[in-house]
Amino acid sequence: MSGSAAPLLSVRNASKQFGTFKALDGVNLSVERGQRIVVCGPSGSGKSTLIRCINGLETLQGGTVVIDGVALSQDRASLIRLRRDVGMVFQHFNLFPHLSVLENCVLAPMKVRGENRPEAEARAMEFLAKVHIAEQAHKLPAQLSGGQQQRVAIARALCMRPKIMLFDEPTSSLDPEMVGEVLDTMVALALDGMTMIVVTHEMGFARQVADQVVFMDRGEIIEEAAPADFFANPTHERTRNFLGRLL
Ligand code: ADP
Ligand code: MG
Repeated sequence: MSGSAAPLLSVRNASKQFGTFKALDGVNLSVERGQRIVVCGPSGSGKSTLIRCINGLETLQGGTVVIDGVALSQDRASLIRLRRDVGMVFQHFNLFPHLSVLENCVLAPMKVRGENRPEAEARAMEFLAKVHIAEQAHKLPAQLSGGQQQRVAIARALCMRPKIMLFDEPTSSLDPEMVGEVLDTMVALALDGMTMIVVTHEMGFARQVADQVVFMDRGEIIEEAAPADFFANPTHERTRNFLGRLL
């Protein structure tokens, strides 16, 4: 049932245990096309586990993930489709260290999307220009600053033309002076209409671009609201405590 009426992403009653520990406990999340969701919550609350289950790096024990009308499963066709449709940006960039910036960007489009080299390179240069890094295309990742590497990671994900982009604390390992350039890139992407789920504690970013802020604690979504409400009138004690600690 693929169509514009259904949400682009739907997570239903998702649960995930590590041993007896419930990392996700009945999580429900719906993301419409073009919607931007910011996920926050204390360390260990399940944010990364949720993101990793949505992009197939972890498997759920209960519940479902449906992306653009197709239920996520472990068969090869489903995972290939997932790699095309879902872009991922990690805290630690995860660029291939032995490949140039350009090679990092063309690898998956050529392997997974079957693009030929000239078209993959042309598109990669477009996205590298968008994140203001085209002139570094032939350098190795280690020759770039952390902020530049993270912008390459964003460009690399965009080269797959994903339907949704997932970010897991994309600025948490950056020096403070580099956080702004990465957030600016993400704001530009949001203004372009990209559907995004962003795990971050950058509440300025949440206020600026999020349609919805989701607060997780102990594997559950405790509260979700538009940013204005979320910051002005947090309903739950745990949300208030968390926001209090951020300030
Ligand atoms: P967050 O991203 O919100 O900090 P995580 O989703 O990374 O939290 O982790 C949630 C909980 O699940 C933590 O207590 C963590 O230790 C545990 N956890 C995550 N991944 C694993 C794993 N592969 N094996 C065992 N425990 C894990
Ligand atoms: Mg995490």
